[in-house]
Amino acid sequence: MSIKENYQFILEKLNSKADLVAVSKTHSVEKIQQVYDLGQRAFGENKVQEMVEKAPLLPNDVEWHLIGHLQTNKVKYIAPFVHLIQSVDSEKLLSEINKQAQKVERIIPVLLQVKINEEDTKFGLEVSETKELYLKWKQGHFPHVKVEGLMGMATFTDDRNQIAREFQFLKRLFDSLDPASPLKYLSMGMSQDFDLAIENGANTVRVGSSIFGSR
Ligand SMILES: *Cc1c(COP(=O)(O)O)cnc(C)c1O
Repeated sequence: MSIKENYQFILEKLNSKADLVAVSKTHSVEKIQQVYDLGQRAFGENKVQEMVEKAPLLPNDVEWHLIGHLQTNKVKYIAPFVHLIQSVDSEKLLSEINKQAQKVERIIPVLLQVKINEEDTKFGLEVSETKELYLKWKQGHFPHVKVEGLMGMATFTDDRNQIAREFQFLKRLFDSLDPASPLKYLSMGMSQDFDLAIENGANTVRVGSSIFGSR
């Protein structure tokens, strides 16, 4: 199938139930432009350098989402233009985003990345760390960032029950974190599991290979 057919197929499946971030990592600006021309504006990259190289070659109204692990020393390169940093996994990182946002006189929207993966211990905050960091932000510690939600990645497995469990776990945290002023974005689900993610409460999905092809 062509990129256009892939993209339209995904939109049909989403059926307006969740926002789509088209994950364009490793793919060319020509391909991104193709999807942009079909109306897509939100694109996700997992590497700062790649985002910084691609951004000037694409239209100004592309909304760039950083979805991969972000090193503190690289925040300054994306601070002027990044739309949403989905992968905040430490207080140190949040603090640096706050600092760089202040320098460019912005309030940068972010999501806290929570470790929901039952097996792997990659990047992400534990539940207790998520609650603490959110509270600190609510108390005004990082005025140049806006915590707008949570992001999570399920285990890479064929076990759909396990994936569903992990998504349900994050949805519960999402609902309970601040019931008085609910968070906006719950970002979970990729090409393999975005249907499960939506069933379990995601309102944003990050889909790459099902649109652009394999990497
Ligand atoms: C690559 C990536 C995706 C998209 O994965 P696909 O399997 O290509 O859909 C989503 N989220 C994150 C954090 C990623 O790194």
